[in-house]
Amino acid sequence: MHLSGAVYAETFIAEAAREGLCVASVERGTPATPEGQDAVRFVKPLHDQPNDCASGEVTAASALSNQPLYDDLVDSFSMRSFVPTEGIDGHDQFFSTFDRFSGLKSDAGEWLDEVATRAAAQNEQYLEIMQTPTFSHAATLGYKMGWPEGPDKEISRDQLAQLRDQLLSAGLRDEVSVDEKEFADAEHQREVLGSCHSDPPPRIPKDNHGYGAPCPVRVHWLYQILRGYPPQQVFAQTLLGFEVASTDPDVVGIHFVMPEDGYLSMRDYHLQMQMLDYLHSVYPKVHISLHAGELAPGMVPPAGLSFHIHEAVDLGHASRIGHGVDVLYEDHPEALLKEMADQHVMVEVNLTSNAVILGIKGKDHPLHAYMTAHVPWALSTDDEGVSRIDLTHEYVRAADEQGLTYLDLKRSARTSLEHAFLHGESLWQHTDDFTAKKAGCPAIVSERTRLSEPCSDFLNTNEKAEQEFELERRFAAFEASIH
Ligand SMILES: [Zn+2]
Repeated sequence: MHLSGAVYAETFIAEAAREGLCVASVERGTPATPEGQDAVRFVKPLHDQPNDCASGEVTAASALSNQPLYDDLVDSFSMRSFVPTEGIDGHDQFFSTFDRFSGLKSDAGEWLDEVATRAAAQNEQYLEIMQTPTFSHAATLGYKMGWPEGPDKEISRDQLAQLRDQLLSAGLRDEVSVDEKEFADAEHQREVLGSCHSDPPPRIPKDNHGYGAPCPVRVHWLYQILRGYPPQQVFAQTLLGFEVASTDPDVVGIHFVMPEDGYLSMRDYHLQMQMLDYLHSVYPKVHISLHAGELAPGMVPPAGLSFHIHEAVDLGHASRIGHGVDVLYEDHPEALLKEMADQHVMVEVNLTSNAVILGIKGKDHPLHAYMTAHVPWALSTDDEGVSRIDLTHEYVRAADEQGLTYLDLKRSARTSLEHAFLHGESLWQHTDDFTAKKAGCPAIVSERTRLSEPCSDFLNTNEKAEQEFELERRFAAFEASIH
């Protein structure tokens, strides 16, 4: 999930009221504004004086006593009430929301508290959250260094190595500690807020492993890189992301985001994959997950559908693919699916996001093609605040719309941890084969299972295995409760 996209509009409104922000109309067409919808956005007050709003604007706080304005704000920050109109589709509305609430200070700790609390209430145990920390220094350096001979389709490793050296010697690493502090502050703030308390979800005994901590949901971060910018910025930010992920154990990987059909995302896709190919060779331990194939026929020319997932795997070294919706439009899709299955490249499946942004749902969704090809897959939410959903909603949708069974959903949950970028080894002897456990851990887990010493030691030293074992315990508790 994306952090800001996972936060509900109501939280943003409360924060804006506290900060004394103002509300302005969205100018028609910037970004896309549906006719007849009173789209609004937050803007800073005059002279940074809280609630000092320009003429034609109103205070965000006034929305708390003005229901129509409150409704407009919720609708402007989400897919609620959205109806496509001529020239404005779900994709436009979805991506417009982010600009509209961007006037807020980053309240990452409060946002983290909200998403972790919601996760705990749904019996989720681990979140890997995409977040973009400050990168202005890196971007400035990137623009200062420029880009060799314009945005060519091909760039050599030597050229990239030279750019990396230049960026590092100009002080790109100065921003690493800034970003580390932002992540640490968010986690600290979440602990202070502490609304995600230790009450376990219903039916799960209190003495179960993992509870009793201030919040039973573990969190790691993915360094989110914005792909829709010129190559000098994308490379500088990606380099910073690799540096942060190499330094901060809470940042477990990097991720590329933003509309994949945007002009620069399309023009530079191959170039950006070459950047990753090079940086992966320098930082092989940093995990890579990429939104790829978040496209549908007609959004881009057919050639644009033919290679993104393939290159994300082969050149981008992605061990997980976000969306992968256009997979059957790629060149040699069967070979690609086989490659993903053989290499255990997981696809993150976001059913609601794909329906509202791409218009792809039901039998048009490639989930069953992935399942048939034995590609590992897991359900995820992408932007649960903008879509106004939660992970449970996606499980229900998968059952209703895609006909998935309990065992399919169980597999999704196990697969998501198996491919999470948690530290340490997996619980399972063979990747994606959830039958034989390592270290003499018990084959059948019940609520009262006692662990042998080797198993216990193994779980204590391998975060991934520990989380996977905890999931098995929760399955046991749930399944025992329904018999
Ligand atoms: Zn996304």
